[in-house]
Amino acid sequence: MKLSLVVPCYNEQDNVELFYEETVKAFSGVGFDYEFVFVNDGSRDKTLEKLKKLYEDKLESNITVVSFSRNFGKESAIYAGIKNSTGDYISLIDADLQQRPEVVLEMMDILEKEPEYDCVAAYQDKRKENSIMTGFKTGFYKLINKLSEIKLRADASDFRTFTRGVADAILEMGEYHRFSKGIFSWIGFNTKFIPYEVQERNAGETKWGFKKLVKYALEGISAFSTKPLKLATYIGMFTSFAAIVYLVVVVIQRLFFNVAVSGYATIVGLILLLGGIQLFCIGIIGSYLAKIYIQGKHRPIYIAKEILKR
Ligand code: UDP
Ligand code: MG
Repeated sequence: MKLSLVVPCYNEQDNVELFYEETVKAFSGVGFDYEFVFVNDGSRDKTLEKLKKLYEDKLESNITVVSFSRNFGKESAIYAGIKNSTGDYISLIDADLQQRPEVVLEMMDILEKEPEYDCVAAYQDKRKENSIMTGFKTGFYKLINKLSEIKLRADASDFRTFTRGVADAILEMGEYHRFSKGIFSWIGFNTKFIPYEVQERNAGETKWGFKKLVKYALEGISAFSTKPLKLATYIGMFTSFAAIVYLVVVVIQRLFFNVAVSGYATIVGLILLLGGIQLFCIGIIGSYLAKIYIQGKHRPIYIAKEILKR
């Protein structure tokens, strides 16, 4: 039995070696083989050099390094890592030691002892971030669960371990705009959620600013829901209905009560409001169209410049 540790790395020069050491330490004496699949996601620092050094020096370990031609994002790195893994089980884990390798052992234990589960995912026990961020995240998960057919857990991370069957299913999902959390949920299988404590980042900084998170959230919604496209229909039905009622009222006022209809401000206000709603809806359609356009080109999910593999 073999486990593949898929580790996406983007500017993690001060973490990869320590990650390797800590994992080997935690895994000493385990009853299964394991390999490392490091994916260098176009790092601009010395991450690749460090990974190459590990590959050359640590002959006792089974190390694969996939190096991208540029930064393609964590989702692409996960895909490439799974694609280049050979284990019966696959674990996705970050390079920054926020996720302890000991937890992977816990996951493996569950997969072995409880064969009804195909996947074990860790969720954060306590979020280590400010309450505004947590509030935004909770709001996003409520919204996406309402809008789409998939169900996402607000606190689940992509720190997880799963069987080859699950890995193959993930690879089958060939979409260019990848939203891992949605993919995990969409493919089904039995998943057990276990709590884990997020550690402080060992070195370097997080790549997730607020802006990037908002973009990620919107991507997630459009990747797994088409409901926003129906927004125009609903708003359109409502405004048409309101307009008819209003017209009837105006005609009755004019014919029976001789009220002169005035209202320059109302007209300007309504034109702006309706124009705004129309542009907003066109924007939504446009964002889906853009995805069809990109997907239609059948571009690869990543481009590997170099693959080191024994
Ligand atoms: N990562 C990546 N490509 C990216 C951004 C991040 O491969 O474009 C990797 C990163 O090196 C790390 C993991 O994804 O191993 C999680 O990133 P990060 O620690 O920045 O996210 P956070 O833990 O703050 O959510
Ligand atoms: Mg991190």
